[in-house]
Amino acid sequence: MGRPVVAIVGRANVGKSTLFNRLVGRQVAIVEDRPGITRDRLQEEVEWRGKYFLLVDTGGLGYPDGRLEEQVERQVQQAVRDADLLLFVVDGRQGITAEDEEVADWLRRQDRPVILVVNKVDGPEAEGRAWDFFRLGLGEPFPVSALHGRGTGDLLDRVLQEIGGGAEEEKAEAIRVAIVGRPNVGKSSLVNRLLGAERVVVSEVPGTTRDAVDVELVHEGQRFVLVDTAGIRRRSRIDTPTEYYGVRRALRAVERAQVVVLVLEAPVGVTSQDKRLAARVAEARKALLVVVNKWDLLDAGARRAYPALLERELAFVAWAPQLYVSALTRRRVAEILPRVRAVFAASARRLPTAEVNRFFTEAVALTPPPQKSRKPAKLFYAAQAGVHPPTFVLFVARSECFTSAYLRHLEGRLREAYDFEGTPLRILVREKGSV
Ligand code: GDP
Ligand code: GDP
Repeated sequence: MGRPVVAIVGRANVGKSTLFNRLVGRQVAIVEDRPGITRDRLQEEVEWRGKYFLLVDTGGLGYPDGRLEEQVERQVQQAVRDADLLLFVVDGRQGITAEDEEVADWLRRQDRPVILVVNKVDGPEAEGRAWDFFRLGLGEPFPVSALHGRGTGDLLDRVLQEIGGGAEEEKAEAIRVAIVGRPNVGKSSLVNRLLGAERVVVSEVPGTTRDAVDVELVHEGQRFVLVDTAGIRRRSRIDTPTEYYGVRRALRAVERAQVVVLVLEAPVGVTSQDKRLAARVAEARKALLVVVNKWDLLDAGARRAYPALLERELAFVAWAPQLYVSALTRRRVAEILPRVRAVFAASARRLPTAEVNRFFTEAVALTPPPQKSRKPAKLFYAAQAGVHPPTFVLFVARSECFTSAYLRHLEGRLREAYDFEGTPLRILVREKGSV
């Protein structure tokens, strides 16, 4: 699902950044007076009448050296592919230019809805000139003044009309991901692959500490925040103080994340440091995906032996799925974000109360807890108390019978019955009456 994406396209200096800032409701994009200033694509969430959509500023089309065609192709194609609706911005004071016509020609051949926005219509006297733009064959021109806010509320209404019920009532959540692992396992290579992937929109947002840079990207309509990519990107030498700092930094990223991607190095296997990191992730009760990188360096025999190796070495996080990738050859790198999403969904999973009760009642009836006294243990009812991770509370009599071994057994049954792959689970026991 994900929120609708609305992209602003148009040649340089027509006022795209100004419009972007106006619609977002604050200063985000840099407004430049000189044409041809390259800038990164920006995206921000826009809220209007209780609905949300993602607004993307595609940056300027057209360069001073005149290599327009290539720019038009690349920028607009990308925007069109990612967007549900396009705002094609033109300059109402300047009138139609050859560049405008070129973009318009191309847009007409696409199957995306377009609103033709005529900007710089600062007063009613300028309105008449907006109608000239009918000639572009993209429907009725919509006059606005991004600078003064004239007509921009109406434009937002029109946008909601176009994207219709698709606009979500609630703010879609970004999944916060920490990519951790020993130095040299290939974290930065993987991050660069993820950011370089085709349908990804990048913008840097400030993190909690001065030098922690979180990078936000959108993949198939889902927002992801890669927590502290500066910590990943900074090349560190493998000496003790830096490495200690690296681990501290990784743990801080884990704390701020909802999903952790633990990167291992295939030829090296699972080191004690890898295990410690995995254990810390489990202690922090974060969802986990184990990515084994540099798969290209293994021969067929080593590859076959790998699942058993991981099962043995990472038994304490057996619930975490594993993915064998190569940042070098891109093998299965495209599966990382979909898996992160699945793992996040598992950790956010909430079962209906009736279902929780039915499941635990049946499981306890089938295999009762070990009896510790003359009276058997008893389960009164069960409830799911929370998510991230899914947490269940059993209200019982004779709680001492619900040993940790027995709770592990229940957890196993729970995992067989429902998809909780990648998330830790908690099962708590309360003596009924004591709560
Ligand atoms: P972009 O390159 O398409 O992103 O254009 P900018 O947003 O950087 O704006 C280019 C110039 O046009 C800046 O000097 C803006 O102040 C100006 N501008 C933008 N919107 C309006 C408008 O509605 N009216 C007038 N008069 N000027 C505008
Ligand atoms: P980081 O310290 O975890 O960020 O690791 P880097 O991304 O800097 O990678 C460390 C080294 O491993 C670099 O020389 C990379 O080129 C190399 N590397 C990364 N991924 C792969 C891979 O999938 N296969 C191979 N053969 N080398 C890789």
